[in-house]
Amino acid sequence: MSMRRRGWLLGLLCFAATCQTLCAAGKLKVLIIDGQNNHDWRATTPVMKWALEQTGRFTVEVSTTPDGAIGDDWRPKFSDYDVILSNYNGHDWPEAVRTAFVEYVRNGGGFVSVHAADNSFGGWREFNEMIGVGGWGGRNEKSGPMLYWQDGKIVRDESPGSGGTHGAYHEFVVETRVPTHPIMKGLPPKWKHAADELYAKMRGPATNLTVIATAFSAPDKDGTGKHEPILMVINYGKGRVFHTVLGHDAHTMAGSGFQVTLARGTEWAATGKVTLPPPKPEDMPADTVVTRTPPK
Ligand code: ZN
Repeated sequence: MSMRRRGWLLGLLCFAATCQTLCAAGKLKVLIIDGQNNHDWRATTPVMKWALEQTGRFTVEVSTTPDGAIGDDWRPKFSDYDVILSNYNGHDWPEAVRTAFVEYVRNGGGFVSVHAADNSFGGWREFNEMIGVGGWGGRNEKSGPMLYWQDGKIVRDESPGSGGTHGAYHEFVVETRVPTHPIMKGLPPKWKHAADELYAKMRGPATNLTVIATAFSAPDKDGTGKHEPILMVINYGKGRVFHTVLGHDAHTMAGSGFQVTLARGTEWAATGKVTLPPPKPEDMPADTVVTRTPPK
């Protein structure tokens, strides 16, 4: 082979290698944590992994905890990732993992809490500050206020009672409350969400928290008659948290609105910006549910 030819080939190889590094470097690294949940995490984690990866913006890895009480054999390395997504609701994490997680988010790491992830760790102060509000897990008025939307703003309701409830599993409309927030920018003001549990009476410290979308918890579906927080963002130290109460099961997660807001919220938690293009209006309509499922 001539020197010239070899030089050209070498150049091409270098270019390919650089591209591979750069292209991988351009993607955000997500770690999903699952392994214990009163929900079917084996069915839901793959839907979220697919929904994130098919945007082209993320690479997703999964860390599955052991069953039952967790010992020394589970030590995820949070600092290897841009953002951690919890699909976990189970035993307390070991002290070393809790400390590493708090440090990670406090120092600027991203965190995404999905549905029953906010039922976990009722007694872990830092975790409750990160998610803002949570449900069940022994939460009550001592955990903090309940939040609802009324007359254009959030009301902090200090009245006593346990935290966390939901009515019937049904389709409902989600309403944008902060259209200028990067996660919500360009999304329709209202969209129909796939059948889900509409969480209500969530309680917590709710500091540095902004409710960016709500849904009306209808009394005829055993709801509270209030506009409940659905999507929230929280600042914790230098870190950002995206909290979605949506996502009871794989059917729910097939809803395009769930997937769009999950991807945008995950990008925002990782970087503070959203570069993902908003969906076409017909992909997130106000009156019907559009679903997308991973290829079999
Ligand atoms: Zn649920």
